Amino acid sequence: MKTSIIPIFIPHIGCLHRCVFCNQWRITGHHGIPSAEDVTSLIQDYTKHVQEKRHWEVAFYGGSFTAIPEEMQERLLKPAHQALLNGTIHGIRCSTRPDCITSPILDRLRFYGMSIVELGVQSMDDTVLQFSKRGHTAEQVLEATQLLKKCGFTVGHQLMPGLPGEDWHSLRETTLKICELKPDIARIYPVAVIENTELAAMYRQGAYIPLSIHEGVCRAAYMKQAFIEHGISCIRTGLQATKDLDDDTQVLAGAYAPAMGEMVDTKRYQMQLFKLLDKLSGESVVISYHRSDTSRVIGYHNVTRKRAACKYKQHIRWCEKKNIQPGNVIVQTILRTYRLDMNANQVYEV
Ligand code: SF4
Repeated sequence: MKTSIIPIFIPHIGCLHRCVFCNQWRITGHHGIPSAEDVTSLIQDYTKHVQEKRHWEVAFYGGSFTAIPEEMQERLLKPAHQALLNGTIHGIRCSTRPDCITSPILDRLRFYGMSIVELGVQSMDDTVLQFSKRGHTAEQVLEATQLLKKCGFTVGHQLMPGLPGEDWHSLRETTLKICELKPDIARIYPVAVIENTELAAMYRQGAYIPLSIHEGVCRAAYMKQAFIEHGISCIRTGLQATKDLDDDTQVLAGAYAPAMGEMVDTKRYQMQLFKLLDKLSGESVVISYHRSDTSRVIGYHNVTRKRAACKYKQHIRWCEKKNIQPGNVIVQTILRTYRLDMNANQVYEV
């Protein structure tokens, strides 16, 4: 059944620190504090005209939900809980900071029916966290994740490749630590420099060098591939496009592209495909895939197909086939056939 989110934005509410990269008013396109009545009417607005069955989830996003005053949390949770009890919605989730997770807090969330908590982790490198003015440590991410798991919550991690002080070594270490912690879900947001943030000032002063879109795609693809291989479901790559973010007076630099998710998947597929093609030099090949994988295989704007034409001398034929499982790519030469499992990064000779 399709899951549909009813987002309730609480921009910057509860934030104990202003992280250098963050401007939730621009990222979410929302201002102000919602009331309990707003929560009720949003739930009604989203659900009332939809005929088919859906899994509806209310999501408190854009701030640090568990850090807002207790009575405000309860005020917002009560109408969502009511909708959960009467069957209008089927889940409640929030995003928050790793240093705002304690047993009493989780007891309250559970009492009101919340089941998914997403932590703004960003990096597991304490130096990067300090440069980004996150105000928490990697150790606190570990503790919060363990407590959430122990209390039966579905745990999400939000990561931001490209923060100040991060290099490939730091990115690899963060990826490894997240794979060990094994949250249930992950979101990867390569850093974009947004107007009216400290990062924007650092960028203007030359104190921060932003990621190019290409570098953002490479870092996110590396993380996503590792997460998939460790059974972590990567549910989003790149910021959701909004009117504000698509305005280049608001995104000054960095790895923001509305099609970031497609670009990252293209990169993941391309890396695996080229690794195999490198070993088949000289042999003509037929590359087959399910229709739902076409854009990932041939690449966003045909980039993989064009690169392959330049890189390899042999004839390559690309074709969609109905009987191939999505996520698999079949590479045939005259003598051999290989199956690439793109999600497991495995090649099988068949
Ligand atoms: S990243 Fe989270 S904690 Fe930091 S300022 Fe933004 S909403 Fe607040």
